[in-house]
Amino acid sequence: MHYLDNAATSQMDPEVIKTMIEYMETEYGNPLSKYYPQAISANLKLKDSRKTVADLLGCDPEYVIFTSGASESNNFVLKGVFEKFKSKGKHVITTKIEHKSIISACKHLERNGGEVTYLDVDEKGHIDITELNESIRADTILVSVMWANNETGTLNDIKAIGNICRKRDVLFHTDATQVVGKIDFSLSKLKIDFLSFSGHKIYGPKGIGAIYIGPDDLGLRRKLPSLIDGGDQEYKMRAGTQAMHDIVGFAKACEIAGDRFVLNSKKLFDTEKQFKYELLKLRKDITFNGDQQNKIPRIISVSIPGINNELFCKEISDKIALSTGSACSISENSYVLEALKIENPHNVLRISFSKNIGNVSEIIEIFKGYITI
Ligand code: PMP
Repeated sequence: MHYLDNAATSQMDPEVIKTMIEYMETEYGNPLSKYYPQAISANLKLKDSRKTVADLLGCDPEYVIFTSGASESNNFVLKGVFEKFKSKGKHVITTKIEHKSIISACKHLERNGGEVTYLDVDEKGHIDITELNESIRADTILVSVMWANNETGTLNDIKAIGNICRKRDVLFHTDATQVVGKIDFSLSKLKIDFLSFSGHKIYGPKGIGAIYIGPDDLGLRRKLPSLIDGGDQEYKMRAGTQAMHDIVGFAKACEIAGDRFVLNSKKLFDTEKQFKYELLKLRKDITFNGDQQNKIPRIISVSIPGINNELFCKEISDKIALSTGSACSISENSYVLEALKIENPHNVLRISFSKNIGNVSEIIEIFKGYITI
């Protein structure tokens, strides 16, 4: 069985599982309990883990807040900034191809008096930077643009977007769920105020992620209202006893992503290249959607004329696990493909690789049985 749905979630790294099991077997203290060894040790582990995650992002540990995943991180930023800054303005800018957690949080803002501009994208999935600049109004409080799209892998020019937002004095959030561990970057060199990501896309556990909340001279950003009210955890920004087994697993996944970045990204890059080449040898009429140059090396969106993607995924499912698009929006037609003006979205498959990918030729051989005409 070949697993090619890594954009939806990835198999945990054995080292991550080992770290989590060891932790669960020996540690059980609450990191905030403070007085006795089990609590002190949990607190130290929490600090260590935060530092490991921060190292991967290239930021100070105090800017990392643990959440349950990227959906929560996205909600936290959008709803938190809106609540905190609504006296300054009620306008938010995002794009038409964001993850469902951003689009749904924006709908929530609209129901609560917010105004949201959803930017169009071109046929490769990029926003127009000039249009973004022109869309910023006096009452714009936040721009939220994803770094890489989860259906096509297309990367946005986050550096340029960050520069515009800083220049226009608007906060900038990016959903980097598909990017962290896949491209090399350091937040110290980018003008990003908030960044969301998740453990289970980088061979870590599910149910854990983080939000980066950058430094701020006025101290305003760091006082965003919590989504979950309660105790003093996570700098009083996210209440609830920390899920330490998940946190140590997440940190291990981040450590591995950083240590083996060059090796893994080369493998993903080579795999993608070979896969596309061999697929095109089977049929010349196959096309790849999104930007084929400026993308993360892992997700490919492919149009295969004549297939019905849902039937295809079902038919091939005993040999290959793959998807028609985002698992979070699976019950509806893809608004991402619609925004990219893909002619026949029912011909589209999303194929996403992992660092553990097996023999590409063997996978192509299976495809051959289904797509040759
Ligand atoms: N944003 C993007 C771009 C994603 O791909 C996903 C995962 N489908 C999410 C957010 C949500 O992540 P999580 O499952 O951790 O909530």
